[in-house]
Amino acid sequence: MVILGLGSNLGNRAIHLKRAISRLSRGSGAVLHAVRLSRIYGSPALTPTGAPAAWDLPYLNCALLGETTLEPGALLRHVQEIESSLGRQDHRRWAPRVIDIDILWWDGCEIKSDDLTIPHPEILKRPFVLEPLRDLIPDTILDSETVEAHASRAGARASVGKIAHSPDADIDVSYPTLMGILNITPNSFSDGGRFLEPETALMHTRRLVEEGAGIIDVGAESTRPDGATIDPATEWARVEPVLHGLRALQGEVRSLGRRDPFQISIDSRNPSTIRSALDIGVDILNDVTGFTQPEMLEIAESTDVPLVFMHSLSIPVVKGESIPPDRDSVEFLISWAEERLAEFDRRGIKRHRLVFDPGIGFGKTAHQSWHLLEHVERFHDLEIPLLVGHSRKSFLRTVTEKPSAGRDAETLTVSRGLVEKGVEILRVHDVEGHATLVSRHHSDRLSQLDAGAAVKP
Ligand code: ADP
Ligand code: MG
Repeated sequence: MVILGLGSNLGNRAIHLKRAISRLSRGSGAVLHAVRLSRIYGSPALTPTGAPAAWDLPYLNCALLGETTLEPGALLRHVQEIESSLGRQDHRRWAPRVIDIDILWWDGCEIKSDDLTIPHPEILKRPFVLEPLRDLIPDTILDSETVEAHASRAGARASVGKIAHSPDADIDVSYPTLMGILNITPNSFSDGGRFLEPETALMHTRRLVEEGAGIIDVGAESTRPDGATIDPATEWARVEPVLHGLRALQGEVRSLGRRDPFQISIDSRNPSTIRSALDIGVDILNDVTGFTQPEMLEIAESTDVPLVFMHSLSIPVVKGESIPPDRDSVEFLISWAEERLAEFDRRGIKRHRLVFDPGIGFGKTAHQSWHLLEHVERFHDLEIPLLVGHSRKSFLRTVTEKPSAGRDAETLTVSRGLVEKGVEILRVHDVEGHATLVSRHHSDRLSQLDAGAAVKP
C-alpha cells in the first residue's frame, strides 16, 4: 500500500488534481488500484523569504492511497512523467506548479537514496500533508506516534486560517466537473427565453449551484442553426447585469466559508464582450470559434484565465455543413486541435490553461456526433482536459422523438459513457440529474474498493 500526496496551485487546480488521479488510477495505464482518496484541502503556498510575490498562490492538496505493483523507483519516474504531461514546467523548488505528486508513505518500506526518500521527509512538518494522511491512515505509526496524534499535536486542523479545510464536497474531485448552462437568450434551442430577466437567471444559477454545478457558463447568443446572430452591444446588455449578479453570488457562497464556490465561464465569441466580462471578473473564457480570431487570441494572451477552445465550422451552425464524410471525425478534430495547440504555444499561452471541446453538433452530422462521443477517450492524447457539451442536442433525435427540453434521460445515458471515459467537464442543462450520476459513479468505485478490500487478508 502506498500513499501519494498531490498538490496544485496553478490554473484550474481541482481539474489538475482530477486529471492526475485519473491518470494514476483509471484505465489501462493505471498504476494504483483499489484507491481511496482523502478529502481535499486548501493551503497557502510555502515559499522561502524573498520569493517572488507571484509564487504566493494557494494550493489544493489531497492524498491518494492504493495498491501498486511498481517498485518505488519506477513509481517515482511514473509520477514525474505524469507531472510533465500535465504541464508541470518550472521545477524550481518553491515555484508554482500545475501539479506536484510526491510519494508520502509506503507500507513497510523505508528508503533513503539520492533521489527518493520514503517516508517523505517533510510529512510531519506539513499540515497539508498530515491532514489528508489522517483521513487515510489515522492509526498508522510514524516516528513512534500515530498519524492522528501527529496531526492533532501539529494542530493541523486548528492551524486553519493557514489551512482551509474543505471536506464537504465544495471541491469535488469525483468525475467530472459539471458546467451548468445559463442561456440568457430569447431563442436557445431548449430553454430560450426562460432566463432573459436577470432575476430569473440568478434564481436559476442559485439552483444549479445548489445542485452541484462547479462552473456556470453564461451566454447570450444562440448558436443554433438559423439562430439570429446578435450584435455585441445587445449581447453585452443581456450579459452585464447577470455577470454582476453572478459575482455577488460567488461572494455570498464564499462567505459561507467555501474557497472555490463556483467558477464563472463566459460563453462568447465577441472580443468586446469578453473584454468587458474580464473587467467585471470571470474565471473561464469559452469560445465556440476556438480562439481562431486574432483579437480573441490577443485577449487570451493578455490574461491567465483558463480557455475552452471549441471546434466549429460555422457560427451560427449551418444546417447540412459537416466534417467531410470521408474523414474520420476523431482524426479530423485531433489534427485541428493540435494546430490550435501549436498556435497557443507560439503565442506563449500555457498548456495548463487549455481545455478542448470537440463541439458536438457544431458542423457534425448526427452520425459524426455519436462517433465522437463513442471515441472521446482518444482526445486524451491531447493531454489537456476535455469538455463535452452534448446536452439535449439534435443528434439525440436518432434515439428519441422528444423535443429538446425533454431529452434529459437520453443526455444522461450518453453522459454515463463520458464519465466512464474520464471526460473532465460536462456542460449540461440538467445538473441535478448529472450530480446523481456522478455521485453514483463515485460510490460504484468505492464499493469496488470495499469488495477488493474484503478479499484481501
Ligand atoms: P517538491 O519538493 O516541491 O515536491 P519536486 O517535485 O521538484 O519538488 O521534487 C524534487 C525531488 O525530490 C525529485 O526530483 C525527487 O527525486 C525527490 N524526492 C525525494 N523523495 C521523494 C518522494 N518521496 N516523493 C517524490 N519526490 C521525492
Ligand atoms: Mg514533488
